[in-house]
Amino acid sequence: MRILVSNDDGILAPGLRALALAMREFGDVIVVGPEENQSANGHRKTLSRPLRISKVNIGEDVEAYSVDGSPADCVAMTVLGVIKQPIDMVVSGINRGANLGQDLTYSGTVAAAFEATIQRRKAVAFSLDNPSLNADYSAAAQAACMVVREVIQNALPPMTLLNVNVPNLPFDQIKGFKVTRQGMRVYRDRLDERFDPMGRPYYWIGGDAPTGDITVEGTDIWAIHNGYVSITPVQLDMTAHTLIDSLRDWHFN
Ligand code: MN
Repeated sequence: MRILVSNDDGILAPGLRALALAMREFGDVIVVGPEENQSANGHRKTLSRPLRISKVNIGEDVEAYSVDGSPADCVAMTVLGVIKQPIDMVVSGINRGANLGQDLTYSGTVAAAFEATIQRRKAVAFSLDNPSLNADYSAAAQAACMVVREVIQNALPPMTLLNVNVPNLPFDQIKGFKVTRQGMRVYRDRLDERFDPMGRPYYWIGGDAPTGDITVEGTDIWAIHNGYVSITPVQLDMTAHTLIDSLRDWHFN
């Protein structure tokens, strides 16, 4: 078993290192992560310029490389052969901050896992519900091992991954694992207009951190709020299947 570990927070992120070390329990580990933070860059594929890869020392004898591209680029390059050994499985994370509800379309962590499913590999994305720079990833790494053990022993359908979020609690205070569906994030984005020294306006999309609807039982947001590890099966098929029949009754011509 050879496991590729990637992320979107960048090759030096402590969550990546924690996940890589934890995955050694299951076989050979190769780390390929983005050179720079790619959080909220989604499923970007770099086609307009060349990509470069560099060997990186992240300690503990972990074979690690950085790529000057997106998380999906890291996964694609590796699985397509930049590393000669075949990859059996891809794990992404542990992200600095949860990936819940609509976050999944922004998330580079989840995008890396989606890229792996496109390349026909088993894939799991891991996030810790703590965006602070000095978060403790040990409980999330332990939970990741428990999830990956099951993923190795069971089949996942094509183009399907597991999106795993871990609450910010010591391991012995985590209440257990819940299989969930995506909940509803509430974003608090605000456009912040500022002016450069020439008096020209520039913009930040800022505002407070998103919250979410914690009242709907069975969602990822609900599970994390209640101290459970949330495991959401996610598929790349974004078709709104429930709309197909009624959409056929519209009068397009
Ligand atoms: Mn991130």
